[in-house]
Amino acid sequence: MKEPDLQPLVNLHVGDIVSLIAVIQRAKPIASLVIPLEVRGWFERFCKLMHLITFDDGPSDSYQARIAVCCEEKTAKIKRKLDEIRALYDDIREVAIILHAEKARNEFAKALAMLQGAMFGYPECCTEFHAKKGESSRARAYEEFLESGMDQSIPTEFWAVAHAPCSSTCKATLELGRRYLDAVAEFSESLKNNVESRLLLPRFYQTGGGRFFDLKPLDYNQCAGELSVSKEQFEEEARSRLPEPVKTVLCDVPRPYVLVDSAEKPPYKTSFPNPEMIGTMWLAYAPGVGAYMVNAKTGGLALYMLADEWLPKVGEQWRSRSNFRIYRSVKSPSQGKEQGMRKQN
Ligand SMILES: [Zn+2]
Repeated sequence: MKEPDLQPLVNLHVGDIVSLIAVIQRAKPIASLVIPLEVRGWFERFCKLMHLITFDDGPSDSYQARIAVCCEEKTAKIKRKLDEIRALYDDIREVAIILHAEKARNEFAKALAMLQGAMFGYPECCTEFHAKKGESSRARAYEEFLESGMDQSIPTEFWAVAHAPCSSTCKATLELGRRYLDAVAEFSESLKNNVESRLLLPRFYQTGGGRFFDLKPLDYNQCAGELSVSKEQFEEEARSRLPEPVKTVLCDVPRPYVLVDSAEKPPYKTSFPNPEMIGTMWLAYAPGVGAYMVNAKTGGLALYMLADEWLPKVGEQWRSRSNFRIYRSVKSPSQGKEQGMRKQN
């Protein structure tokens, strides 16, 4: 395929580009992707050209479609079977509650999670950890990154995978991420460059490891003329809404991997990531505690949430010091070394 024909692909979130190419290059059995509606038609044609099997994987809305892609009919069949079993799980849970059979319910949920993980090609250690500890355990790797001081130098491989790593040093995750990135490099040189530069963007996490958006920090002195909200004005607003220490950054936010939106009562705006977040933003955050974000050009509210307001609605298990922080990524040292060696050869 000619390089210019791949151009629409960059409309996907970088994580989904990596997963898609990993499937095409047979490095991943199946991927579940979020496709912006603007490129859905192109995406279907592209998949046909690549001899991929595609099918709906959840409801579409006014922003995006959820589509599963794989190469083998057998894999598609397994996915459909597991979705049927997943639907059955609600019945089983109900029966287990009536029978007071909590252990049976847990074992069933664990087995289901292990099968799903195996289907997507996730490392067994990560799937097992996730199955045992539940969704909110996604934060663990990010808590560990904070503890070890690695939160500003996370290997890009961690952001190239779709699963929640069992730890910040999970070898299987690093190896899998590397395989996927190698698959992208083999597929297209220009796509590799696009993917690498986007994986190196800082990320703001609302919940450690789960919900995030990428951001490109901007120089205030260079942009001040185009903004309707000044640095002083924003910092004052942010400090009246968040507890100290408050950090602020002016940044461009590209379209996140998924968009959610719901009507909410002021002053809070907690749907994350939402369409108002795209563009030039003033972002303020109190690490672990909350965030406040406004569009720097229009002054429109993009986000305002505090852990103490939000956690009672979603569950205390989501409380983590890794929430509401910016993480940065680096090319892993071995990768640089290998490239250096290749160049010398
Ligand atoms: Zn692992």
